[in-house]
Amino acid sequence: MTKELNLQELVRRAFQSDIDMGLGEAIINKQSYEAKETVVVEKTPVTTPTYKTLDEHRAVICDCQKCALSKSRNNFVYGIGNPNADLLIIGEAPGAKEDALGEPFVGASGQLLDKMLAAIQLSRQTVYIANILKCRPPENRNPLPEERELCFPYLHQQIELIKPKLICTFGLVSSQALLDTTASLGDLRNKWHEFKGLPVMVTYHPALLLRNPHFKRDAWEDMKKLKARYESMR
Ligand code: SF4
Repeated sequence: MTKELNLQELVRRAFQSDIDMGLGEAIINKQSYEAKETVVVEKTPVTTPTYKTLDEHRAVICDCQKCALSKSRNNFVYGIGNPNADLLIIGEAPGAKEDALGEPFVGASGQLLDKMLAAIQLSRQTVYIANILKCRPPENRNPLPEERELCFPYLHQQIELIKPKLICTFGLVSSQALLDTTASLGDLRNKWHEFKGLPVMVTYHPALLLRNPHFKRDAWEDMKKLKARYESMR
């Protein structure tokens, strides 16, 4: 099977046959994507962690009581994946299933995320997946500003330990939190951002894609650009 056919098959599996994904265009071309604009973000400095590994970090923070979400959580959701991943995926916060299992991106949106990663020949074993918040907000509401502020240092410490080469934020909430902006998803997509020197891509959250499948074509374009940048940095 040719490389092109492999990619087409991956696309078909990832986005389902009922969505016209423009398969003839679904060939990743490293030269095809040029960043329209790079936005540099400066956030409040976070203390450099003294932790040596993610396991050590997790063990120290897993009983965190810094905000009220500690009282309603069933499980602390730290993150999952390759501790030396080149690509870090950042979501918003645990939902009900994530809270029940202690793992980010499970359930239907997690399955779609797995397919999106498979479409660019990655998996949750090769990347690292984490959230802005480690504990579930009640009724899946958006994280409050103070919750984001209190929890963000943990994510920053994870980034310093993993040392990814590339970050992809899934959804508006995680994108706004990482990039410290109130810009819309439409304004944030289709351009590269920067966080502490790392390139950041913004794309749709899988849960939104499940509700609005007509966005899958744009999501696939994002995945192709992400893959091209990922390969160019390895
Ligand atoms: S959401 Fe973050 S800051 Fe709040 S209790 Fe959980 S780990 Fe701590």
